[in-house]
Amino acid sequence: MRKLILGIVEFREKMLPHYAEQFNKLALAQTPDALFVTCSDSRVVPDLLASTHPGDLFTMRNVGNLIPPATTDGVSTGDLSEASAIEYAVLVLKVANIVVCGHSECGAMKSVYSRNAKVKSPNLDKWLCHANNAAFRLEQEGPLDGRLKPHDQLSQLNVLVQLEHLMTYPIVRQQVTAGALVLSGWWFDIATGDMYAYERSSRSFEVIDRAMAERMIARLAARAR
Ligand SMILES: [Zn+2]
Repeated sequence: MRKLILGIVEFREKMLPHYAEQFNKLALAQTPDALFVTCSDSRVVPDLLASTHPGDLFTMRNVGNLIPPATTDGVSTGDLSEASAIEYAVLVLKVANIVVCGHSECGAMKSVYSRNAKVKSPNLDKWLCHANNAAFRLEQEGPLDGRLKPHDQLSQLNVLVQLEHLMTYPIVRQQVTAGALVLSGWWFDIATGDMYAYERSSRSFEVIDRAMAERMIARLAARAR
């Protein structure tokens, strides 16, 4: 906690002067590019990994980067918090992209994979049921990348399952169909610091290096035309 408190003072003294004008503008409105859904894990730091700044990302974090699916009338079958973030991002902020980002060595995925909670955690156990489809898919269809550890194989499939859950929300489905919203699945490897994006054509996560980034940007531009 000492590190956290002193960090506030360090920001205030060293960084705030550089951000003062930006914060002043942002106080009036935000126009983020994307809703970024990721895990609460302390090792996943979106603004560091994506070189993003205040106002760039509307972020929703929870254990396991899960999105409870919606009923046919668009109401979440789980926690309303996730559904509210989706509604706010899509309907009010009108984001053009939603990224679901999983990661390696995810405690939530380890727990789902082993089905063996180390601590008595009734809320967490119930919450993690939203990743059950990913475990089922791993069992039935196998991994996208067999070289990964089993919980990382699950984590990658979980990203795809959560994208499907997103599509159960009518407002998401409508915007995607209208071409106004693009859903992407990303995966962060903590050990190497590499970010991967899911490629439908190769049915695999591919590292976002400069060449991959250019392909992704060209595809987004083509869609926008
Ligand atoms: Zn995690």
